[in-house]
Amino acid sequence: CGVFGVTGMTSAANFIALGLHALQHRGQEAGGIVTHDPETGFASARRFGLVRDAFTSESVMNTLPGEIGIGHVRYSTAGSKGATQIRDVQPFFGEFAMGGAAIAHNGNITNADALRKELIERGSIFQSSSDSECIIHLMARSLQRNIPERMKDALRRVEGAFSIVAMTRTKLIGVRDPLGVRPLVLGKIGDGWALASETCALDIIGAEFIREIDPGEMVVIANGEVVSHRPFEAKKSRFCIFEHVYFSRPDSSLGGRSVYETRSAIGVELAREAPVDADLVCPVPDSGTPAAIGYSQESGIPYAMGIIRNQYMGRTFIEPTEQIRNMGVRLKLNVNRALIRGKRVILVDDSVVRGTTSRKIKEMILDAGAAEVHFRIASPPTAWPCFYGVDTPQREKLLAATMSEDEMREHLGVDSLKFISLDGLYRAVGEAKGRDSKSPAYCDACFSGEYPVAPSDQIEKGFAL
Ligand code: 5GP
Ligand code: SF4
Ligand code: MG
Repeated sequence: CGVFGVTGMTSAANFIALGLHALQHRGQEAGGIVTHDPETGFASARRFGLVRDAFTSESVMNTLPGEIGIGHVRYSTAGSKGATQIRDVQPFFGEFAMGGAAIAHNGNITNADALRKELIERGSIFQSSSDSECIIHLMARSLQRNIPERMKDALRRVEGAFSIVAMTRTKLIGVRDPLGVRPLVLGKIGDGWALASETCALDIIGAEFIREIDPGEMVVIANGEVVSHRPFEAKKSRFCIFEHVYFSRPDSSLGGRSVYETRSAIGVELAREAPVDADLVCPVPDSGTPAAIGYSQESGIPYAMGIIRNQYMGRTFIEPTEQIRNMGVRLKLNVNRALIRGKRVILVDDSVVRGTTSRKIKEMILDAGAAEVHFRIASPPTAWPCFYGVDTPQREKLLAATMSEDEMREHLGVDSLKFISLDGLYRAVGEAKGRDSKSPAYCDACFSGEYPVAPSDQIEKGFAL
């Protein structure tokens, strides 16, 4: 998901809509905006679909007055799957002591089932099926005397990944979990401030990037001042390495480095680790593009657009049902036949999850008359599900959970298939020595099976580590 908030800006809602539009790649199912105006109180609008359709009409935007507000774009990873219901669309808003608060959450709470059960037994009335709603109820029950303190209370009970943008009537709040699994950045625009999942959302509103919110940090912004708090015990951070590979936008910057640069460095590593003689390097657009450029530069094999993407389709993976995803590949990608015919082609993609995309693409490429097809993948085999806010399927559906690399190659029907090594990936993201196996710098659980936070709800349901 994507989160965004601003304060100290006339017509905050318009800036939020722009910020969310820049974060649309992080969630396309639905979006929401909450604002506050001293005269009219809190206002909220939650809509299905894309920001550019849902939050552009005057009739919607005029209902969202105020100089402070937050927003969210949704991609369902917990709670109701498939058909998202409007009640699950964030931000969540609750009126309780001291005027109440609204929150927008990116990540996933790994003990949400247990918390929900406990809260319901103690009388909480849940409005949604979302894991994030627990935070509002925990805040409402806290006995602390101001909302940021109540939020600290609440978040100390929450396990898992959270980058949160929240608001009260007067304060904009940003928090990251102690491991800092999901990104969150701070920006400044005129006399106002902005919080966003990624820097590309600051760029769109012309805000200056100030810094990342630290893992385990809470910032409270009021009266034009940013005050930093450290509500949690300090831990070594474990940022999601997959944000570098796929999730973030290539024009964003993470940890002081452009995502595009990292992705093309992954392609360079991949070319060193897994060279092959061929005529063309083609990306599977758009997610494989920067890595393909790096692969081509390092190998000296010409880069070409062998697959053309229809720009009016979203990310296929993020469509929640299998059927839509299956159709999605053909609706979204088409082979540039004239270019491919008779050629030995290296296809570079960011990841193989279920293998649906790769299989379809291989068929399309061979159908167009390619002489050979070699897959090169910019991440290690995805063998474990993510419980921290990326919607990987159940373990059984992950190709790499049940097959060896050779079996995967056979299954996909390609001439060769190679994944970047975990060490190679760490080198590409800037860890010169590769992965420190005793104390890795990133979360890489979907590749290694080493979960930095025990997924306790899942273990309760029988998930075996
Ligand atoms: P597959 O068809 O193998 O299941 O999916 C792989 C494709 O899904 C890749 O092209 C990748 O760009 C895309 N993808 C989109 N979202 C995600 C995600 O959250 N995780 C992973 N691993 N791949 C994703
Ligand atoms: Fe990121 Fe994978 Fe960790 Fe999930 S399991 S947070 S996708 S690295
Ligand atoms: Mg892709």
